[in-house]
Amino acid sequence: MEKTLSIIKPDGVKKNIIGEVIKRFEQKDLKVVGMKMIQLSKEDAQNFYIVHKERPFYSSLTDFMSEGPVVIIVLAGEKAIMRLRDLMGATNPKSAAPGTIRADFASDVEHNIVHGSDSAESAAYEIPFFFSSLEIH
Ligand code: UDP
Ligand code: MG
Repeated sequence: MEKTLSIIKPDGVKKNIIGEVIKRFEQKDLKVVGMKMIQLSKEDAQNFYIVHKERPFYSSLTDFMSEGPVVIIVLAGEKAIMRLRDLMGATNPKSAAPGTIRADFASDVEHNIVHGSDSAESAAYEIPFFFSSLEIH
């Protein structure tokens, strides 16, 4: 049993597909064990994406991630980290496999609807970034 962190990004919330995204998780046996809706400050987004601080897209990405509310979800399941990444599809929707969330809904490489932890190390940073142990069930 593994845990991973997903975020329905501001574009997903604006497109009114919170339910659609969560349905896809549940249909693939990823269980929602923690969830909240918040709006990140620019500083929150910078800290969350600190691994990308030297990347050219860091400033634009953290503006985007703080421009509206997001839904933050902890998912649990066998191989949850890899299975969430498979459901999401490639970062750039132009390269994302058909039927993935990003292929179906993302507008471009930045506005790509969902986040998912990319490794156990990332999940170990990202889950406690947003959730206390009392908020994970
Ligand atoms: N991103 C971007 N331009 C790029 C690569 C990434 O705007 O060339 C954004 C995009 O929103 C992506 C996020 O930065 O989801 C984090 O990038 P990462 O490489 O970690 O992609 P992910 O793990 O989300 O697929
Ligand atoms: Mg990533």
